[in-house]
Amino acid sequence: MDGSFYSEAQGDTAAAVLTVDLDAVRRNYRALVARLAPTRVSAVVKADAYGLGVARVAPALFDAGCRDFFVAHLDEALALRERLPDTARLFVLNGLQHGTEAVCARAGIVPVLNAPAQVRAWASLARKTGETLPAVLQVDTGMSRLGLSDAEADALASDPSALRGVRFLFLMSHLASADEPENAQNAMQRAALGTFAARFPGVPLCLANSGGLFLGARYHAAMVRPGIVLYGGAPTAGAANALEPVVRLDVRVIQTREVPAGARVGYGGSHVAAAPMRLATIAAGYADGLPHSLSNRGAAYFGATRLPIVGRVSMDTITLDISTLPVGAVEAGSLVELIGPHQTLEQLAADAGTIAYEILTRLGPRYARRYR
Ligand SMILES: *Cc1c(COP(=O)(O)O)cnc(C)c1O
Repeated sequence: MDGSFYSEAQGDTAAAVLTVDLDAVRRNYRALVARLAPTRVSAVVKADAYGLGVARVAPALFDAGCRDFFVAHLDEALALRERLPDTARLFVLNGLQHGTEAVCARAGIVPVLNAPAQVRAWASLARKTGETLPAVLQVDTGMSRLGLSDAEADALASDPSALRGVRFLFLMSHLASADEPENAQNAMQRAALGTFAARFPGVPLCLANSGGLFLGARYHAAMVRPGIVLYGGAPTAGAANALEPVVRLDVRVIQTREVPAGARVGYGGSHVAAAPMRLATIAAGYADGLPHSLSNRGAAYFGATRLPIVGRVSMDTITLDISTLPVGAVEAGSLVELIGPHQTLEQLAADAGTIAYEILTRLGPRYARRYR
């Protein structure tokens, strides 16, 4: 069946196999570099590289030439620091939390400063130690989540002594609606960042996430911060993935059965067989990150054959309708595809009523992970 992957998995005991194609991650990174030059391309590797395993993904990106890595938490940066050469710069998006300044500075990690108090704390540490400390300054251009307001940025810019000891590597902001190219908020945010930039002359700008890459060169600025596109997700709602897919998820069939008309399937008997049908129970459920909202929605694939999910998603199992397959085509031990060449990450997410980001970041710890 379907070439290399199935043969590779044969004889394996794993209940489900998550395959992460690190070469595809590297090619995706290099494709962005080529497409966006001279803009610098960083990589967002927060949340364990969107669930794919930062310990493998970040070094692969470093190999491909990436030197700037964004995580959400300081602890993520501290763990990553040990896995990447010193020439990699690590940035913490969620800001500099009170009491963590010295740890952050000692580890050579660059905080994104999101509030005036964070700027003051970083500057005060710099003066105490006599060093110049690098930082990114985030300003809020319309998301109301993190970053300095207009008035706060004004106050800061008009008091250069408050900034002594701090060197801003980038002035950054984040787009709220970059996945909707037509949304007027994009242009408003870009213009707002320009206004902030006038207060901090000479500081390079950093604005675009994955969606922002596809809004045109005016959004690229000095550095971009893609996450999801590197991992094979689509940058724009409803669009196809712009780069190569990276993830494949195959789950093992653990039992098949024939049921008569009238049989109830799964918790709550939410599916009732209208006619005799053949079912396959597979070894993954909501504990493995396959949302309960896939109950009676969505499908797995065996080759090109769509196998609808019937009944509720259980913690450790899902039941599929295999009636359209020849008898014996799928049996205990077979693997079916949840994400792969026949079903994209976006399709699975749409069937579950969620976004690709959520599917990826919840990929279960029980999967046997294969990197290639
Ligand atoms: C998560 C995040 C990104 C990456 O977003 P993608 O849509 O995955 O490219 C970029 N910037 C910030 C501030 C983020 O929080």
